[in-house]
Amino acid sequence: MTADRTPKNPAGLRDLPFAVPSVHASKKKRALRIYDALRDRYPDSKCALHFSNAHELLIATILSAQSTDVGVNKATPGLFAKFKTPKDYAASTPEKIEPYVKTIGLFRNKSKAIHSAMNTLVEDFGGEVPRTMDELLTLRGVARKTANVVLGNAFGINMGIVVDTHVDRVSRRFGLVPDDVTLPMAERHLIATFPRESWAQLSHLLIDHGRAVCKARGELCAGDDICREFCSNAKAGNAGTLKKATKKKTTKKKRLKKKTPRSGR
Ligand code: SF4
Repeated sequence: MTADRTPKNPAGLRDLPFAVPSVHASKKKRALRIYDALRDRYPDSKCALHFSNAHELLIATILSAQSTDVGVNKATPGLFAKFKTPKDYAASTPEKIEPYVKTIGLFRNKSKAIHSAMNTLVEDFGGEVPRTMDELLTLRGVARKTANVVLGNAFGINMGIVVDTHVDRVSRRFGLVPDDVTLPMAERHLIATFPRESWAQLSHLLIDHGRAVCKARGELCAGDDICREFCSNAKAGNAGTLKKATKKKTTKKKRLKKKTPRSGR
């Protein structure tokens, strides 16, 4: 992968394989205030997956695709006790890994991915988890998001931002990312907005706020200080625009059921 050196890739981001959008300084300033507020709110924010070394984090992250972190954390102690090193997985078979992860969705495919990834670690990387995006992407079951988790949390290397469903939802609602962009573009907007050293932690903070307050239906909108300051849904003192929208839909449904004409609006 070659670095894109367009004028839109400011100094310090030239090692990234894509251009990043330009973001106005006032937006960056506002973003930092959001970051600080979230950091004060969630001082212990960190990766929710349990691991004690880089290959365990890699495996836990592969297992977490379309599954909950809680479910993964329930399965991994037994798995990690049985297979201690990448060599142990490589010397085994996907079928022998399966019983340890069968409580997790797509466990057969994930067992194959884990076995193959550990095999590649042994054969190509001396049994160690590589520390570059390009190398991580050669492992089965590893895409950019998984690689970002491993680089950021096992090695403290910020090559991107993990954008999961919570990060995507909360960053759009806070106006950090335009509503109409794709997931990869959302990551680029966040990259362009926040200082590089904050990328891994930003993801944890947005996930924590998404889990605690800014849930998919936004029930807690108006009752939260950070939301009142930074999100238009709460700013006007609305008891949750999103909740209202849901209520409106129900009312409309009821109206149709009763076959009564719609009122003035
Ligand atoms: S105000 Fe509501 S929609 Fe906005 S960030 Fe807070 S919980 Fe989410």
